[in-house]
Amino acid sequence: MRKRETDNSGLLLPLVEEFYSIQGEGVNTGRAAYFIRVGGCDICCSWCDTRHSWNPELHPMVSIVEIAGNVTAAGADSVVVTGGEPLMWNMEPLCRLLRSKGIKTFLETSGTHPLTGKWDWITLSPKKDSPPLSGILEMADELKVVIHDGTDFEAAEMYSRNVRPACQLLLQPEWSRYREMIKAITEYVKKNSRWRVSLQAQKFMHIP
Ligand code: SF4
Repeated sequence: MRKRETDNSGLLLPLVEEFYSIQGEGVNTGRAAYFIRVGGCDICCSWCDTRHSWNPELHPMVSIVEIAGNVTAAGADSVVVTGGEPLMWNMEPLCRLLRSKGIKTFLETSGTHPLTGKWDWITLSPKKDSPPLSGILEMADELKVVIHDGTDFEAAEMYSRNVRPACQLLLQPEWSRYREMIKAITEYVKKNSRWRVSLQAQKFMHIP
């Protein structure tokens, strides 16, 4: 899907949903966070569980001032910007506004579009058929690779060669293949202990 051409100032964003919940994935699992799901994704993973986010035209363009107001009204001190693929949009104004309010900014991205915005934490989740742009691997705080089948381990190792030493390495079973892949993932992590297991805890907790 193509992003909307009319406005990429970053002052308005196609908002799929926003909610205050608990981060269920990755290093920051268990942290309270306000989630902002931005519309638009041109990768089209076969196992995507947020297909409704792909077409930004289906979602209202909402002012970042309104979104930031909702974050503070909820009492959140951290925001996770996810998608879709948030970097299809200019994230600079949203980050600047949130940070001016003392709110920490966390990004979830596939890394297929140029990085915009200043982030406290970048979770890079590369997709096998759409590799990340050069440069973003070195910026990641967390490399989270979704494991759908056995070939994803090779891709995970390939991406991990270009991250910073401090970057956290995580393998996460793709939800619909959890039962098939969790044993292979646990065995892999036992043999390769620089990796850790990430689960989608929000699905087990039945929260958004
Ligand atoms: Fe879905 Fe994310 Fe893949 Fe886009 S990158 S298709 S939002 S899983």
